[in-house]
Amino acid sequence: MESSSKLSRRSFIRNGVLGAGALTLGSTLSAIAGFSGSTKKKLGIALVGLGGYSKGQLAPALQQTQNCYLAGIVTGTPQKAVDWAKQYNIPKQNIYNYQNFDSIANNPDIDIVYIVLPVFLHKEYTIRAAKAGKHVICEKPMALNAKDCEEMIAACKKANRMLSIGYRLHFEPHTIEVMRLGQQKVFGKLTGMDNGNGFTYNGDPNAWRLKKALGGGGGLMDMGIYAIQGARYSTGMEPIAVRATQEKTRPDFFKEVDETVFWELEFPGGLKTKGKSSYNNNWGYLKAKAEHGEFELEPAYGYGPILGKSSKGVIDYPQINQQAAQMDDFAKCVAANKPTRVPGEEGLKDMRVVDAIYRSLDSGKWEKIG
Ligand code: NAD
Repeated sequence: MESSSKLSRRSFIRNGVLGAGALTLGSTLSAIAGFSGSTKKKLGIALVGLGGYSKGQLAPALQQTQNCYLAGIVTGTPQKAVDWAKQYNIPKQNIYNYQNFDSIANNPDIDIVYIVLPVFLHKEYTIRAAKAGKHVICEKPMALNAKDCEEMIAACKKANRMLSIGYRLHFEPHTIEVMRLGQQKVFGKLTGMDNGNGFTYNGDPNAWRLKKALGGGGGLMDMGIYAIQGARYSTGMEPIAVRATQEKTRPDFFKEVDETVFWELEFPGGLKTKGKSSYNNNWGYLKAKAEHGEFELEPAYGYGPILGKSSKGVIDYPQINQQAAQMDDFAKCVAANKPTRVPGEEGLKDMRVVDAIYRSLDSGKWEKIG
């Protein structure tokens, strides 16, 4: 039986400012103290899946973060566990594989689990992490389809855990300026927009990105999601309908998934924007026209530099480590029990657009979104 002091402390935490942090009490409490006081403690992040993005971007970014640190790893490859433990000084008890992952529930060092797996595993590991009492960051695209996104959001809500999507650009200064220019109608109402994102895929033909069941789709899921985001965050509106076409110049290579997709989004009030995605073209731009001016970013979606200009001149801000800013912000939100600006709902909205684009590719018609 618990002592009354323990109970009251716990109910204070459940009902009070800490709320969602209750299950990882020790570390969250000291983090709170740290964020507002002198004994600063960073929240612990465990990366799940040590592939290209974890190795190349997230682990290095976690060497620069102020509010969180690389506390643990989850990997199916024993040699990676050895190498990462050595490189990043990760204690043995914070190293998991996919079989014993659920026992992470008992580890107070891990506050946040970051899912960096192929898309078909996002739902399963997000739900398992939430059930283990951890807050979750899940990489983009959030899941195979909107229905799975809804299940992930519901599971995190039920477990009283915060869920965020790895939308690093929401923390990038040039992108934030473009959001302001569009959403606050600095040049008047938007009259048109064009967003494109893609790269020329020449990698392993057996990779998960080329299998529909594993990636959910091709260039649209992987790269197009940024162009959809670009349209949504520049307009500050949710699109209501979409019409799409596609092109395949290498059908032997892109057997199961889309190569290049073109779409038109319709927004409330009648604005139409263009978008495109590709695994066969190097694109990365956002261009907006408004009643009294225009603005653009190019490159718009990479890790940096992000460059931009508007009718008023160069959009000039510092280049930052986007991933470090993104993870630091989420750790701050968790510690303060404040909503993240990129919650699961943000991923869900994009996946509703993606689902409608695939429906339109099948029907050849305008399809409603949602
Ligand atoms: P990757 O293929 O390099 O790494 C995937 C990892 O998952 C590998 O370590 C692999 O061993 C592991 N894995 C575990 N179970 C697996 C299984 N059953 N099948 C295949 N792999 C399995 O991929 P990545 O480029 O690191 O991408 C991972 C996620 O990160 C994807 O959702 C991707 O869209 C996202 N991503 C995001 C960004 C960004 O800028 N936000 C950039 C790159 C990747």
